[in-house]
Amino acid sequence: MSGLGNLNPPLRRSIRARLLLLALIPLGIVLPLTMAALAYWGGDYLDRLLVTKVRSDLAVAHGYFERVTEGVGRSVASLAASERLARTLRNAHGKPEQAVAGLLDSTQLEHKLDFLHFLDVTRSRQDAHAWPVVAAALAGQARTETEVFSAPELFTISPELAIRARTTIVDTPNARPDMREAEVRGLVIHSAAPVHDANGRLIGVLTGGVLLNKNLDFIDRLNAIVYPAGALPFGSAGTATLFLDDVRVATNVRLFGDTRAIGTRVSRAVYDTVLGAGQTWLDRAFVVSDWYVSAYEPLLDSRHQRIGMLYVGFLEGPFVDARKQAFTVVIVLFALAMLTAGIFAVLWARRVFRPIERMHATMHAIEIGDAAARVGAVPSQDELGVVAAHFDRMLDRLQAQASSLKRWGESLDAKVAARTAELEQAVADLKAAQSQLVMNEKLAAIGQLTAGIAHEINNPIAVIQGNLDVLRDLLGPQADPVAPEIRLIHEQVQRIRLIVAKLLQFARPQDYVGYLEPADPGQLIQDSLLLVRHLLKTGNIAVDQHIESARQIICNKNELQQVVINLLVNAIQAMPEGGVLKIAVEDWDEADMPLGIRLVVEDSGPGISKADLERLFEPFFTAKKPDGNGLGLWVSKNLIERYGGRLTVSSLPAEGARFTVWLRCEPLA
Ligand code: ADP
Repeated sequence: MSGLGNLNPPLRRSIRARLLLLALIPLGIVLPLTMAALAYWGGDYLDRLLVTKVRSDLAVAHGYFERVTEGVGRSVASLAASERLARTLRNAHGKPEQAVAGLLDSTQLEHKLDFLHFLDVTRSRQDAHAWPVVAAALAGQARTETEVFSAPELFTISPELAIRARTTIVDTPNARPDMREAEVRGLVIHSAAPVHDANGRLIGVLTGGVLLNKNLDFIDRLNAIVYPAGALPFGSAGTATLFLDDVRVATNVRLFGDTRAIGTRVSRAVYDTVLGAGQTWLDRAFVVSDWYVSAYEPLLDSRHQRIGMLYVGFLEGPFVDARKQAFTVVIVLFALAMLTAGIFAVLWARRVFRPIERMHATMHAIEIGDAAARVGAVPSQDELGVVAAHFDRMLDRLQAQASSLKRWGESLDAKVAARTAELEQAVADLKAAQSQLVMNEKLAAIGQLTAGIAHEINNPIAVIQGNLDVLRDLLGPQADPVAPEIRLIHEQVQRIRLIVAKLLQFARPQDYVGYLEPADPGQLIQDSLLLVRHLLKTGNIAVDQHIESARQIICNKNELQQVVINLLVNAIQAMPEGGVLKIAVEDWDEADMPLGIRLVVEDSGPGISKADLERLFEPFFTAKKPDGNGLGLWVSKNLIERYGGRLTVSSLPAEGARFTVWLRCEPLA
C-alpha cells in the first residue's frame, strides 16, 4: 500500500502536526515555565543561602575577634596581678618602669603582644585622657578595646610598630577617592589593667596591645577558623580582612599572584553602608578583582566610633558556575525529554495513523477499479482499528450489493435482448405470415387456375398421346422416316404431362401425398445418384460423399427423392464445365437434443447472386435455363416445410452454392 503518501500532504501534516503539538505543548510550555520558576526561585534561594552562610561566617569571625581581644585582655590582666610583677616592682628602687622593662620584654613575647608598658599612677593619669582603657584601669578595672593609634603614638611606643603600621594605599577601582599615599595609623587591640602593691594600693597601670596592621598571623588564623579546608564547596575560596577605615590593613585577599591586597580599599557602596550608615553588609561585593559573597561589619573603638571593618567572604564565581552547570543539565535533560517525547509522538502518530493510511489506500485502490481491495487486519485494537474493520465489512456489503445489482442488470439486459429478439422474430414471422398469406392467396388462385388448366390440358394431351400411338401403330414401318419427329412429339407430350403433373401436385397436394415410412438418407442419396448418373458422366463431375449420420427419418420416400434429385440436377446444371459435387448427411442437433438430419448438396459452380438468392424459392423463377420451368425449388421447399423441415441456401458468387435440407426424424403434425 502506498499508505498516507496518497493523502493530501497538508492535511496529513496538519493532523500529525496537531498530534505532535498536543504531545509537546505541555512539555514545551510547562517545562520552560518550571525552568524559569526554578531559575528565579532557585537562584534567589541560593543567593539567600549564600548570604545566610556569609552571615554565620561573619558571626564566627566576630567571635574569634572577640576571643583574641579577650585573650589580650586576660594576658595583660594576669600579668598585672602576678607576683612576678609585684616582686620586680618591689626591687625597682624608685625606677619601676625600667625595672619591669626586661620582665615585660620576655612576657610580651610570651603572650605575643606587640607592646607592654607599666605606667605609674602619674603617667597613667596623663594617658587616661587619651585612652579610656587606661582611665578604666586607673579606676581599678581592666579593659580591652580596639583603638586607632596615630603614627606618633605608635612611634612613641616603638618605631618598629610605626613602620609596620604604615600601609601604602593602592589605587582601587570603585573605591571612594582618597588623596593620601599611605595609611600611617595603626589598628590596635589595646588593653589596660591596674597594678596594686602588696597592700592593695594602686601603684600604676599595665598596658599592652597587639597591632593588627599586617598581622598576617592573626588574619590567616581567623580565615582558617571561619573557612577550614573543605568548608566551601565547588572550589570557592574564603577570605578575611581587617580594615582600618576603608583600607585593608590585614587580609588574605590576593591582589595578584601571592601578593596580598594590603593597602587596597573597599568599594564606595560598602563604605557608605558600613562605615557611613553603621550597618552590616550582607551581599555580593566586588572585592579587589572578583565578586565575593561578602559580609562587612563595622569595628568600633572605645568611644563607639567606627574605625574600621571586619570582613569575611568567599568567591561567588564557583557557585555561579555550579548554578549555571545545574541549569545547563536541567536544560539538556529538558531538551532530551522534548526530543524523546517528540520521537515518541511521531512514532505513535504513525502507528495511530496506520489504519487510516490503509483505509485511504484501499479507497484509492477501489477508485481505480480494484473492487476486491480491503484494509485487512490492522494491529491496533483502538477506535481506528474498529473503524477499519467496519470499513471492510461495509466494503464487503457494498460489493455484494454491487455484484447483485450487476447480475440483475445483466439478466435484465439478457431479458431485454431475448424479448427484442422475440419481438424481431415475431415481426419477421408476422411479415412472413403476411407475405405467406398474400402468397397463399395468390397460390390458391394460381392453384385453382392451374388445376383447371391442367385438367383442360390433360384431355387434349391424352388425345394427342393416344392418336400418336394409333398413328405409329397404323403406319408401322412406314413411320420410320418420321420416327425422330414422332419421338420428339412423344417427348414433348411427356414433358407437358410432367409439367401438368407438377402443377397439379402443387395445386392439389392431398391427391399426391403417399404413405410415410422410415427412410435411410444415405440409401436415398445412392438411389438418387443412380438416377442422375448419365448427367454426371457427361458433365465430367466428381462426387464427394460424406454420409455421417445413420439416423432414419419418417417421410414419403418419393417426395424426398424428388427433392434430392432436383437439388442434384440443379447443382450439375450449375457446373457445365465440370466440377465437384459434394453430398453430405450430418446429424441435426439443437441444445444437445437430436432433432434430425442435415442433407447438404454443394457444388463448385458460379454461385448465386444476392439478388437471385432473394427470389430463388419463388415459383417460376428460373435463370438462364432454357429448359427450366422455375418450379423445382419452389415445390421442394413446400414439400420439406410440410414435414416441419427447412430448405436453406447459402452462396457467394464464384464460390458455388450450398443447399441444405433440414429434416426432422419425426415430421411435425
Ligand atoms: P429450374 O431448374 O427448372 O430452373 P428450379 O426451381 O429448380 O427451376 O431452379 C430455379 C433457378 O435457381 C434455376 O433456374 C437456377 O438459375 C437457380 N439454381 C438452382 N440451383 C442452382 C445451383 N446449384 N447453382 C446455381 N443456380 C442454381
